[in-house]
Amino acid sequence: MCSGRVDMSFVLRAFLNGIDGVFIGACRLNECNYVTQGNYHALNMVLLSKRVLEHMGLNPERLKIEFMSAADANIFAEGVNAFVKKVKSLGPLGEGEGINRHELKSRLVEISKLVPYFKMANQEKLASHLKTPEEYDGLFTKEEIDRLFTEMVSYYIDPEKCQACMTCLRRCPVEAIVGGKNRIHVIDQDKCIKCGTCFEACPPRFGAVKKISGEPVPAPIPEEKRTIVRKSKEAS
Ligand code: SF4
Ligand code: SF4
Repeated sequence: MCSGRVDMSFVLRAFLNGIDGVFIGACRLNECNYVTQGNYHALNMVLLSKRVLEHMGLNPERLKIEFMSAADANIFAEGVNAFVKKVKSLGPLGEGEGINRHELKSRLVEISKLVPYFKMANQEKLASHLKTPEEYDGLFTKEEIDRLFTEMVSYYIDPEKCQACMTCLRRCPVEAIVGGKNRIHVIDQDKCIKCGTCFEACPPRFGAVKKISGEPVPAPIPEEKRTIVRKSKEAS
């Protein structure tokens, strides 16, 4: 697989499956056959993933990217050997960091849901072409990643205000909004990637979508209470 296809979600999935370390072998920088230069994207994705691992309490050295050509068998062999040695010294995933298995799984599952948010929030940096390894460390700082978590917002539809106009449902890029004609709409928080489109799209006269930060998202209104009963003109 082209290294440009490697996504943070693949890395997290490997860890969720119990892998202790992930090694990505990519073509040498500036030797990509395509104008997209996917190996730069792979590098940036790895740098971002390392910071996210660090935030979770996992050792970022469990993830490594090495650049080589098809003829660089020695670089590959030496790179893999050194990485295996490193990972062995770190111990099993989680255990080496003092995180129990249950807690580790729950952290990985929660972080995996946020991958689209991390990518969206760092779109510009993920497209960078870093010139030297000295620049790697500064692309994403620990403080920046911590801020991504503390400033993370969630979106919630106020059932008292939703008029079931269906605008948000049609605009949501990941089909995270459940609703229908005359049905109060609800955001599926497990699918939501926190893009804010529904917040922007909800007509100001309704203002039903709320941005929530630093507090839990209210539970969704039960299914049986989602039908909107409108007063007919005759009755009013
Ligand atoms: S924030 Fe984005 S992903 Fe989430 S429900 Fe709204 S439109 Fe959908
Ligand atoms: S756009 Fe606003 S009013 Fe319309 S369905 Fe969505 S939340 Fe409800």
